[in-house]
Amino acid sequence: MQTIFITLTGIIVLLSLFLGIKVYNAGKAERVNRSFGLFTIIFSIWIIFDFLAYQISLTGHQLLINRIVFADIILLVLFLTWFVHIFPRSIFEVPKILKYLIIAWTVLIVFLALFTDKIVKSVSIESWGSNVITGDYFFVFVIYVSLLAIIPIVVLITKLIKFNDLEKKQIKYILYGIATLTIFNLLFNLLIPSITKNFEFARFGTYSAIFFVAFTAYAILKTHLFNLRIILTETAAVIIDVILAVQVFTSHSVLEALLRALLAILVYYGSYLLVKSVREEIKRREELQELSDELKIANQKLQAIDAMKTEFVSMASHELLTPISAIEGYLSMMLDEKMVKIDDPKAIEYMNRVYKSAKRLARLVADLLNVSRIEEGRLLVEKQDIELEETITSVINELKFKAEGAKVSLESEISDEAKVKVYADPDKIKEVIINLVGNSIKYSHEGGHVKVKAGFLPIAEILESVKTMENICAEENKDVSGEGSIHSAIHEKYREPVGDRQLVISVQDDGVGIEKCDVGRLFKKFSRVGDWSTQETPGTGLGLYISRSLVEMHHGRIWAESDGKDKGSTFCFSLPLFETKEQVVKLDGEVPKAKDAKPLAKSAVGN
Ligand code: ADP
Repeated sequence: MQTIFITLTGIIVLLSLFLGIKVYNAGKAERVNRSFGLFTIIFSIWIIFDFLAYQISLTGHQLLINRIVFADIILLVLFLTWFVHIFPRSIFEVPKILKYLIIAWTVLIVFLALFTDKIVKSVSIESWGSNVITGDYFFVFVIYVSLLAIIPIVVLITKLIKFNDLEKKQIKYILYGIATLTIFNLLFNLLIPSITKNFEFARFGTYSAIFFVAFTAYAILKTHLFNLRIILTETAAVIIDVILAVQVFTSHSVLEALLRALLAILVYYGSYLLVKSVREEIKRREELQELSDELKIANQKLQAIDAMKTEFVSMASHELLTPISAIEGYLSMMLDEKMVKIDDPKAIEYMNRVYKSAKRLARLVADLLNVSRIEEGRLLVEKQDIELEETITSVINELKFKAEGAKVSLESEISDEAKVKVYADPDKIKEVIINLVGNSIKYSHEGGHVKVKAGFLPIAEILESVKTMENICAEENKDVSGEGSIHSAIHEKYREPVGDRQLVISVQDDGVGIEKCDVGRLFKKFSRVGDWSTQETPGTGLGLYISRSLVEMHHGRIWAESDGKDKGSTFCFSLPLFETKEQVVKLDGEVPKAKDAKPLAKSAVGN
C-alpha cells in the first residue's frame, strides 16, 4: 500500500508541477498562466505534506507538518478564488481596499495556523497516521475556507451565462474539474469511510484534486489545441517514466534494480522519440494550418479584386459607350449624302472604315457591359406578353440589309401553333435572335441561306440535345481554371427546366459550320472557334455567352448543332410556355435581384 501512495504522490506532484510549467511557458506574460503556475506549486506542497502527515515514523514533526497542511489549504483556496476571478477574464474589478483586506486576513489566519495552537492545537498519532486536534479558532478557518470555496463556483456559473462560446467551454472544463473533485471526495471521504469505518482510502479524495489541475490546464490551453496533443503525450510519458523510476528505487535486489533501470532507460528513449515525433507532426500541421490561413486570405483578396475588376469594367464600358455612340451617330450622318456632301471618294472610303470600326467598338463595349451586368446579377429582366412572330419578323427586317450585303438569303418559317404569346422580356429575346441570325449571316458564304424557324419540342428532347452538345469532347474543352465549357453565370435555380411544352426557335445556316469538338465550348466567354473563316471575321466571342445567359434568365436552354466544317450549323433556344404569369413571378422570385439593376446595353446591330 505504501508503494502505491508513494507512487501516487510522486506522480501527482510531478504532473501538477509539469502542467504548471507548461501553462506558465505557454504565456509567461499572462496573469492567468502565472497564477496557474503558482497554484500548482501550492497544490504540490499540499500533496507532499498531506502525504507526510500519514507517515507515523515522523512522529516528532507531525504537529508542524499538519500546521503546514492547514496553512497551505488556506493559500490554496485563496489562489483558487483569485484564479477563477481572472480566468479567462474578470467580469469586475476587485476594489484595492478589499484586496488588501483579504490579503491581511489570509496572512493572519496563515500565521494562526502555522505558529499558534488556535487552529491546529495538537496531533494524536493513530495507527493510520496523525489525527488533528483542532484549536479554539478552528471555526474561523472553516468559515474562511467555505466562503472562499463557494465564491469560485458562483463566479464560474455567472461567467458561464455571460461569456462567449469558447470561454464557456473553458469554464465548463474547470467546472468538470471541480465536479470530479467533489465526487471523489464524497466517495472516499464520506461514503466509503461510513461503510468500512476506515479512513485508509480518504487520501484518494485529496489526490483527486489532480483532476481539477489537469482540467484547468486543459481549459487554459484550449485555444491552442495542437499544443495540447504534445502536452498529453508528454504527460503520459512523464507518468510512465515516474512509475518506472519509483520501481527502480523500490527494487528488492541489485539485479532487479539493474533490470528495471535498463527497462526504464529503454522506455525513456522510446518516450523521447514519441514526443519528438508528435512535436514534428504537430509542427507540420501548424505550418499547414498557417499556409491554409494565408491561402484563405489571399483568396478573399482575389475575390475582392475580381469584384473590383468587374465593377471597373462595368463603369469603364458605361462611360465609353456614350462617346462611341456619338462618334457612330455623327459618322453615319456624314456618310448620308442627303445631309453632308463629300466629294473625295477616298475620304468617303476612309470614313466608311472608321464608321465600321466605331460600330465594332460600340458592340464590344456594349457586350462587355452586358457581361459585367450579368455576372454581377444586375441585368434587369422585364417580362411581358410578347408575340413571338412579331419579334422574329422585326429581327428579319433589321438584318435584311446586312444579309443582302453578305449576299445571303434570309427567311423565316413559323408554324401556326408557334404563333403564340410568350411571357418574356422583348428586348432580351430580340437580342438573342439578333445574335444568332447575325452570326449565321456573318459565318455564311456568299449565296448561303439562313432560316429562322419556330415550333415545339418536348423538354426531354431539348435536354438531351443540350447534354449531347455539352458532352462532345468535354475533356478537351476544359480549361485551366477548371471551369467546364458550360459554366453559367446565371443562378442555378433560374436554370431549372420548367414544364414540358417548350417553344423552340432555331436559326439554321449552310455556312462555315463548326468542328464537332468545338461545339461544346461555343457558349463560353470569349470563345471563338474555327479556322481561317472565323479568324478573318471580326468578333468578340461574347455574343453567344450573353445569349445563353439571357435565355437561361427565361428558364430556357440554348444549344448548337453542326455536322462539321463547311456543313452549316443550327443554333436553337427554348422558352417554356407558362400557364400563368404567377408561375414566372414565383420562379423568378427565387433569384436574387440587385437593387441597382440595369437594362441591356445596346449598340448598333452587327459587328
Ligand atoms: P463572335 O461572333 O463575336 O465571335 P459569338 O459568341 O457570337 O462571338 O460566337 C462565338 C463563336 O462561335 C464565333 O466566333 C464562331 O466561331 C462561332 N459561331 C457562332 N455562330 C456561328 C455560326 N452560325 N456558324 C459557325 N460558327 C459560328
